[in-house]
Amino acid sequence: MKTAFITGISGQDGPYLAKLLLGKGVKVVGLTRCITDETMRGIRYLGIEGDVEMVATELGDKKIIESLIAKYEPDEIYNLAAQSSVGASFTSPCTTLEFNILSVLYFLEAIRLFDKKQIKFYQASSSEIFGKVQSLPITEKKAIHPLSPYAVSKASAHYMTVNYREAFSTYSCCGILFNHESYLRHPSFFMKKVIRESIEISRGMRDELRVGNIDIKRDFGYGPKYVEAMYLMLQQEGPDDFIVCSGESHALREIINWLFLKLDIGSDRLVIDKKLIRPTEIEDMVGDNSKAKNILGWDYSLSLSGLLDILLEEELRNFSEK
Ligand code: NAP
Repeated sequence: MKTAFITGISGQDGPYLAKLLLGKGVKVVGLTRCITDETMRGIRYLGIEGDVEMVATELGDKKIIESLIAKYEPDEIYNLAAQSSVGASFTSPCTTLEFNILSVLYFLEAIRLFDKKQIKFYQASSSEIFGKVQSLPITEKKAIHPLSPYAVSKASAHYMTVNYREAFSTYSCCGILFNHESYLRHPSFFMKKVIRESIEISRGMRDELRVGNIDIKRDFGYGPKYVEAMYLMLQQEGPDDFIVCSGESHALREIINWLFLKLDIGSDRLVIDKKLIRPTEIEDMVGDNSKAKNILGWDYSLSLSGLLDILLEEELRNFSEK
């Protein structure tokens, strides 16, 4: 039986990936900073609480990572843990860079020291690394130009993962994922925030939706489908990097218009708050997913309205007015 580590198991992607791996007969060890009701929320929501071995640990410590690898001898490591908010990275750049870079390096070093070829490593890279793009759509070959401390940290982790592959022949891959959403998304992120708050407005629990720059465009997809690409990346003959995206970009304003129409909310409830506008912002971000589709056999065909239908339906089903 194969064993897989998932770091950042309490986040959005961790529980969906754990469920997928369990379905493939893989033993899943979930690494988290702390086991609490909150960090178990996603695992519990997906009904896999008793099936994942949870380990409370510190990933910012090289010795701890080495001992975890020695103890469990994982076949696959999916490294999802990160301070993942672009906004928070502007207020906490030091902790963002420190954790997002060093934890990755410690894993790569431990793999190199223990067993170069057998442990397959997946690094959660991000479309944010491309930042100031010259032309669209973005392919794996495009130059990077990060525009936030988060993007700088992910770019560094990305190139370290590539470097270990090239220098030491490790099986290390980067999944360059574009924005992806689900019911388990943290409420501080745009899509979850606007869906929840729009429902609250429609139920008379809130007066307005306060947002920053909604004229920027992003390529949004569905999280549970994106974790399939992570799994496929570690099942190939050799390691490589892949863009995972929907292939369409839409202005954030379109999402709000769609929600307000569905929930019968007047446009006067929308407030643009200058305090929510970031120091630097990527204007448009759309990817080309043809490499993932052709090589991994990953399939994705959900439109933005198809995605919004799924997200709104699940949020309404679980919505509590308490
Ligand atoms: P997420 O919901 O923010 O979860 C990340 C997890 O990382 C957290 O639940 C937490 O897990 C751990 N973590 C956060 N800050 C940490 C810190 N300072 N020190 C140690 N651990 C920390 O992220 P996600 O949406 O599942 O995304 C998974 C990965 O993909 C992340 O690396 C993210 O940056 C990247 N990514 C996400 C998207 C997206 O649209 N969702 C797009 C591109 C890339 P514990 O509390 O359990 O330790």
